[in-house]
Amino acid sequence: MTKLDSKIPAGPIAEKWSNYKAHQNLVNPANKRKIDIIVVGTGLAGGAAAASLAELGFNVKVFCIQDSPRRAHSIAAQGGINAAKNYPNDGDSVYRLFYDTVKGGDYRAREANVYRLAEVSNNIIDQCVAQGVPFAREYGGLLDNRSFGGALVSRTFYARGQTGQQLLLGAYSALSKEINKGTVELFTRREMMDIVKIDGKARGIIVRNLVTGKLERHGAHAVLLGTGGYGNVFFLSTNAMTSNGGAAWKAYKRGAFFADPCFVQIHPTCIPVHGDYQSKLTLMSESLRNDGRIWTPKKKSDAEKIQKGELSPVNIAEEDRDYYLERRYPAFGNLVPRDVASRAAKERCDAGHGVGNTGLAVYLDFKDAINRLGKNVIEARYGNLFQMYEKIVDENPYITPMMIYPAIHYTMGGTWVDYELQSTVPGLFVGGEANFSDHGANRLGASALMQGLSDGYFVLPYTMQNYLADQITVPHFKTDGPEFEQTEKEVQKTIDKLLSVNGKHTVDSMHKKLGHIMWDNVGMARNKEGLEEAIVEIKKLRKEFWEQVSVPGEKDGMNVELEKALRVADFLELGELMARDALNRNESCGGHFREEYKTEEGEALRDDENYMYVAAWEYKGQDVEPVLHKEKLDYKDIEVKQRNYKTA
Ligand SMILES: Cc1cc2nc3c(=O)[nH]c(=O)nc-3n(C[C@H](O)[C@H](O)[C@H](O)COP(=O)(O)OP(=O)(O)OC[C@H]3O[C@@H](n4cnc5c(N)ncnc54)[C@H](O)[C@@H]3O)c2cc1C
Repeated sequence: MTKLDSKIPAGPIAEKWSNYKAHQNLVNPANKRKIDIIVVGTGLAGGAAAASLAELGFNVKVFCIQDSPRRAHSIAAQGGINAAKNYPNDGDSVYRLFYDTVKGGDYRAREANVYRLAEVSNNIIDQCVAQGVPFAREYGGLLDNRSFGGALVSRTFYARGQTGQQLLLGAYSALSKEINKGTVELFTRREMMDIVKIDGKARGIIVRNLVTGKLERHGAHAVLLGTGGYGNVFFLSTNAMTSNGGAAWKAYKRGAFFADPCFVQIHPTCIPVHGDYQSKLTLMSESLRNDGRIWTPKKKSDAEKIQKGELSPVNIAEEDRDYYLERRYPAFGNLVPRDVASRAAKERCDAGHGVGNTGLAVYLDFKDAINRLGKNVIEARYGNLFQMYEKIVDENPYITPMMIYPAIHYTMGGTWVDYELQSTVPGLFVGGEANFSDHGANRLGASALMQGLSDGYFVLPYTMQNYLADQITVPHFKTDGPEFEQTEKEVQKTIDKLLSVNGKHTVDSMHKKLGHIMWDNVGMARNKEGLEEAIVEIKKLRKEFWEQVSVPGEKDGMNVELEKALRVADFLELGELMARDALNRNESCGGHFREEYKTEEGEALRDDENYMYVAAWEYKGQDVEPVLHKEKLDYKDIEVKQRNYKTA
């Protein structure tokens, strides 16, 4: 049985990463040229890793679904990226960023990884500035910072409301330089369908060319997945439409353990769902909570009038507004972490104080900020977000407060990786949102970009090299061997099977059904009965899918319905594992809120004695119960406490 070894280096926490780098194995420049690496994904994690590994001298093949690396989902990131530079001189440090991240994740992340993340955060900013990323600057010329949830300091670097886009352009230019040099070979419009293992090691992938429909084989000495998160299992989420869990799921089925699948993040500030035919949700960046104040009407009667369209929020007097986050959490106020803010919004709406025509919305109000700073300042800070809101909701948020409600946004769970970001399949590395590593049960705002770039620019180039150092005598891989042959056959069989069902239901309608099951039972509030029901319902739906789905078109050529069907087939299995994991975890922590386990004040109640571990699931076969492995979490440098955002 595979045993979990997190390979945390010895020594004091602040020295672990330096010690690792000082003692790791290196590959000499001439030998690097003999080694091939596959990188799947061109978001911040994959793009940064591919560029850095190629710059070191390795041969890199990089793959993405979109027609350009620049269109990876990372482009959507709005608010910013954290780093412990302490430019505002407000008390930040590497330790404080480490501490906030571990606390924010409700003590369910691995200390050593999080410390390394905080440690390299400052290098990321230097790297990106050198690339020309246009971070916002304050009057004196220094890079400006703003605040994000779960921190009492301002450490978030930003480029208006387009930080992800600007960072991705930086990574893309680094990648383009390598493409031009010939060290990176770029394959766009390719979707990885499976991992190929030879003698137990990851040695290649099978991809589908999304334009021709043809399957292709690619071999390498190591494979890196930077394929993003699986939030779209819920159908409605803030993720890009092509975001999927397929690559991580295929890796799971080939022996890479899947960790903490139930840890998903619900973001408190999204534009509320407004209709049955909606296929996408829109995020209003957390940065808005720097200046916006969140409230609901104190009186239920006012909320009811608003719901019926008989009263406007601008006519509700100050004393009749309940700024419930400021009331409940005086120290952090509107900047409590996302899980806390989301639950508080749900609590107000469940209690009948919600607004909008569904009663499932709360207000994010800029009135005070506009009065204090002027409309120009607010426009300069968030103009593009306000514009986006007005286009979607058809209300001017400078005048009428924005309506927001929690929505699925990010997945903390993912492929289990050790300190080197290597999965339980040797030679298979995973970075960015696709791995589980750094955020525990709840990710703090602006920490995903930090993690993706930390993994890509600063961690994987070292750790993959350490792995590859003993591979220098292994020749380039031919792809005509039996392992490639067999894996490709299996992929082809799945595609043929899907196309032959010829059922009555569209892929989207079945995905939507899955989304309902997930949101109702594995969403913001979970309980034993609901989770058990979800497992039964998902199994039923999966059966229905394979008997009744309709996938029109051919396997050759472009077939978007087939692409979607392949992704939904994976979601229908992954959703069940998420429910299983949530059922196993008899505690509440971070984004995982089990209704049975809460404090008297309704806060998440952890059970450290029994659940202070990473749950890593091992695949045992189709429709066979997976096996749970536990990586015990040890906190030596942070005192484990009940999370508290009421006081500093
Ligand atoms: C609306 C929105 C705003 C956000 N704002 C912020 C923010 O302000 N700050 C912050 O820190 N975080 C933010 N996040 C989170 C952050 O954007 C993501 O976590 C992060 O960008 C993920 O980067 P990644 O490189 O891991 O994956 P992605 O950017 O998702 O890239 C995945 C890549 O993998 C490829 N891929 C996927 N599957 C396959 C496959 N099977 N075969 C081939 N290629 C594949 C895709 O084509 C793509 O290139 C936001 C998220 C959303 C949804």
